[in-house]
Amino acid sequence: MINDASTAAHSVDFDALVAKTVETLQRVADQFAPAVLASSLAAEDQVLTDIVLRHNLQDRIGIFTLETGRLHAETLAVIDKIKETYGYDVELYRPQPEAVDAYVKNKGLNAFYDSVELRKECCHIRKVEPLNRALQGKRAWITGQRRAQSTTRAELNVQEHDDAHAMEKFNPLADWSEEDVWHYIRSNNVPYNALHDRGYPSIGCEPCTRAIQPGEDVRAGRWWWENADSKECGLHVVDGKLIRIKSVSPSA
Ligand code: SF4
Repeated sequence: MINDASTAAHSVDFDALVAKTVETLQRVADQFAPAVLASSLAAEDQVLTDIVLRHNLQDRIGIFTLETGRLHAETLAVIDKIKETYGYDVELYRPQPEAVDAYVKNKGLNAFYDSVELRKECCHIRKVEPLNRALQGKRAWITGQRRAQSTTRAELNVQEHDDAHAMEKFNPLADWSEEDVWHYIRSNNVPYNALHDRGYPSIGCEPCTRAIQPGEDVRAGRWWWENADSKECGLHVVDGKLIRIKSVSPSA
């Protein structure tokens, strides 16, 4: 994991990379408002949150997170850090209580370990349905996905059309490396999730995320008990194709 700015080798043209990202977010604000940043409260999303708030775009680009009810305390603490640092309240979208209750009663609180189908059902209740609600009435959404996070994201574009949600989807950090992300965070004193310092490059729900060893894929700690081919939560459908997460991925 690369979160030590003193040693990280960020892009040579880092300033140009940041300028291009600011330009993208300003274009989203100008041309696609109301838009939203879907933040997982992980490092990439903190970079985007900082840019949105630093450039006063929050009236046109809202920031929300999917509060699944199973997040780490450290992840929830980032919400307070954002409030303290920027005075901004991240909007929280929670699952429908009746759907959670029915799943827990009929399948079990942690039934997602039992099969891919039960895991996807839990992700649908706690993530996909709340995401759909969060995107209602919006003209575009923004994620912190990066091309380098996965071989399956090698063709990730900064701007894509999300057929499933019938709106534009922006990935302003598509060109960024992990080093760039951490250089930005350290250089700008951006608040970040304490789990990143404990071996968690990718952070999701607490029971479905674990720390990784040096050299492992950054997504290796997500749904580690499943085959790589099933590692998706249904949040990202672009150009009619589900964006699968074989080795590494979002913000989701
Ligand atoms: S990541 Fe795990 S706990 Fe979170 S919604 Fe998916 S299956 Fe449920």
